[in-house]
Amino acid sequence: MRDAPDNLDPVPVTLTDFERSALPTLTEYATIPCLSPGFEANWEETGHLRRAAELLAQWSRTTLPAADVQIRQLPGLTPVLTITLPARGAATTTAVLYGHLDKQPPLGDWSDGLSAYDPVRRGDRLYARGVADDGYAAFAAVLALADLEAAGTDHPRCVVLIEASEETGSSDLPAYLDALAPELGPVALLLCLDAGGLSYDRLWLTSSLRGLVNIEVTVRVLEQGLHSGLASGVVPSSARVLRQLLDRLEDSVTGRVLLEELHAAIPQDHRDAAATLAAMFGDGLFDDFPLVPGLHLMGDTTAARVLAQTWQPALSIIGLGGAPAPDIAGNVLRPSTTAVLSMRLAPPTDPDAAAETLVHVLEADPPAGAAVRARVTSTGAGWVAPPLAPWLDRALGAAAQAAYGAPPAWVGEGGSIPFLNALSLRYPGVQIVSTGVLGPGANAHGIDEMLDLPTVVRVINVVTAVLEAAGAADAG
Ligand SMILES: [Zn+2]
Repeated sequence: MRDAPDNLDPVPVTLTDFERSALPTLTEYATIPCLSPGFEANWEETGHLRRAAELLAQWSRTTLPAADVQIRQLPGLTPVLTITLPARGAATTTAVLYGHLDKQPPLGDWSDGLSAYDPVRRGDRLYARGVADDGYAAFAAVLALADLEAAGTDHPRCVVLIEASEETGSSDLPAYLDALAPELGPVALLLCLDAGGLSYDRLWLTSSLRGLVNIEVTVRVLEQGLHSGLASGVVPSSARVLRQLLDRLEDSVTGRVLLEELHAAIPQDHRDAAATLAAMFGDGLFDDFPLVPGLHLMGDTTAARVLAQTWQPALSIIGLGGAPAPDIAGNVLRPSTTAVLSMRLAPPTDPDAAAETLVHVLEADPPAGAAVRARVTSTGAGWVAPPLAPWLDRALGAAAQAAYGAPPAWVGEGGSIPFLNALSLRYPGVQIVSTGVLGPGANAHGIDEMLDLPTVVRVINVVTAVLEAAGAADAG
């Protein structure tokens, strides 16, 4: 570490630096099955989330001795890790660096030689669940801060906030934002490190996120199953009733969501951005989807698909219940069918209002008098990026140029990060930069999740440069 009495520029972090200081602990983190509470009801007993938080805390204390590192845990809620570094220089506001340590489940069997909790490095890529979404974030944030400290660069007060319920819609985060509000103080900048882009050759910034409503809907027609030879044709099947209910939500041929309140007008600049992406990537934009041969994508053009993916509502059925596995299926008219619906929403749509609409549409006037119950299991708000302050726009341009040799690019994300909306509402005027390492083949939520290590290093150097600029802008 160098002595630096003046405000100096930080020295960019290299891949070797990252390998030496962070990779061993990141690899250890990758072995912990710290599933998000929505996938592991017994998370408190298994202690995996706590263990992951302690591992990251310990590493952060060693790597950034100047910071105050704490694990907080409100009763019944998942833990939150905070790493607070006092300002250097005259800055008076707070920058929050956000990430999460909870993981999605493995999803299924991983490809040969890979597995969810047994990390493998191939070339400059690390494969394991949670390394890219979003385990790397704590390491990247702390290394950026350590880099500023080592050079003696001015920066605002920084709080790295690593939560553990993100993959469950950040269910526990609002309580922590309330509890931490006095400590966070005036938050003027948020760096969210849980996103990504369409390639690894440039810095991608998030322009919008879709919202989300998850609903479990159960259709019951019998108190117990009956021989289908006896009951079929007389008792309406619960699957057919469900089909009718789904027809209320979407056009089963085109997939278009029929509830107009879930749509929103698409701003012209977002339409223009979709056209730009289509021009950059052509038909290859969705090439890394593992499509079966012969499958036709929805939509007519690449630009239309980009807008469908980022600005239009869409329904997925992410879970089914009430039916036996195919190999033990018998000739029974089953008493019930349950489906878990995941409805993505246009970015500006209010998720609570959308949830209310969906429940009403599903439960009203049940076909054939079946017993229908719809239960909202989670909601998450979308987000539309506010315009960047001139200093931040300049800083990102310069940082992207230095790290990637290219200007930054904007992309909407089809997924949700409810935190961004929560923070925008709480701190009006907060500047938000949402970026990350999730590029082609990163497979967040899928099998074979992968972290591209050179990209982590570039993201670290961008974060460092932005915090340096924030220190100067705040002080100036
Ligand atoms: Zn994530």
